[in-house]
Amino acid sequence: MEIKGSIGIDIGSTTFKVIVLDSTKRIVYSKIMPTETVIVKQVNDLFSKELLEFKREEYRIIATGYGKEIIKIADRRFTEITCHLRGIFEEFRRSCTIVDIGGQDSKVIKCNQNGELVDFIMNDKCSAGTGRFLENIALRFNINISELGEIARNANIAQPISSTCTVFAESEIISLLSQGIRADEILKGLHLSLVKRIKSMVKSIGLEPPLILSGGVSLNPAIRELLGRELGVEPLVSVHPQFTAAYGAALLGLKKGN
Ligand code: ADP
Repeated sequence: MEIKGSIGIDIGSTTFKVIVLDSTKRIVYSKIMPTETVIVKQVNDLFSKELLEFKREEYRIIATGYGKEIIKIADRRFTEITCHLRGIFEEFRRSCTIVDIGGQDSKVIKCNQNGELVDFIMNDKCSAGTGRFLENIALRFNINISELGEIARNANIAQPISSTCTVFAESEIISLLSQGIRADEILKGLHLSLVKRIKSMVKSIGLEPPLILSGGVSLNPAIRELLGRELGVEPLVSVHPQFTAAYGAALLGLKKGN
């Protein structure tokens, strides 16, 4: 039987994303929400309430992300690397280097002109190069995460931060503030320290331009600007950067044989 479409679900550590495509690759449904503690309930609610119109026998279900194993009814599961690559290639159709900075991990993925994986590197061991680092900072400064980057971007200088670890950076922030250093300059320094971590990941596998940013942290203007400056390129940003892996998953579900 011909399928009517495909459901791509990306359960990240921070956000839960769903994209439904019809058979012509048109997006007919999308949703993003915070990932709940009991993911299995969130998945059950999604299928029993939100996705009822997309019948199980007519739509393929492809799961990715850190919680992909929890989706028991998935037809297939793919890694986030595969899904990011697929989503970005659909949008840009060229060889490139993808930087995906999510809530609890960051990845650099190199893609050739056919949309195939050339190389990748991933950091999921240390929060300092991830969105969680920025979330902690936003909490510490009592600033909304969506405003943090703009404040950092507008600072005149970046206060050097010597701590390489999120926990130690917190004590360094307190010490710098107590010395009267401006909060926006500390924020810029913290953004720069994250960017330098990503830069070294990019350098370790080599930059194949263009640099394309994906994942929630690419919504942060200071990260975009500083990463471009550090790498000497003008980064491109995926149109809906948090949905890239869910989109890629849904596209993979439309492919015959998957
Ligand atoms: P994951 O897929 O790993 O769950 P996401 O790709 O959704 O994570 O990225 C989550 C991160 O994106 C957060 O930790 C935060 O740093 C960042 N983020 C989310 N929304 C915004 C926003 N509006 N502006 C800036 N940064 C954001």
